[in-house]
Amino acid sequence: MTAPPSRPHTPMRPLWRCRNCGADWPCQPARLSLLSQFRYDRTALLIHLGTVMAEAAQQFAQLNAHQVPDLTDRFLSWARARS
Ligand SMILES: [Zn+2]
Repeated sequence: MTAPPSRPHTPMRPLWRCRNCGADWPCQPARLSLLSQFRYDRTALLIHLGTVMAEAAQQFAQLNAHQVPDLTDRFLSWARARS
């Protein structure tokens, strides 16, 4: 796999900030790119997001077990809402 010339909007683990824009991942450009990647298969997108959300939850818990953010809105709600 070769890296594209411009930095992609991918998460920096374990903080889950975007490598490109520094926003909480998935940032807006990352969401748009995911929506377009999975545009023919919304179910696959939700499964994918569920998987990364579980990974993020685990890593947040390791960083700070007392303050695990609610990740559902951040990872899933935006993908479910639009049809
Ligand atoms: Zn970004």
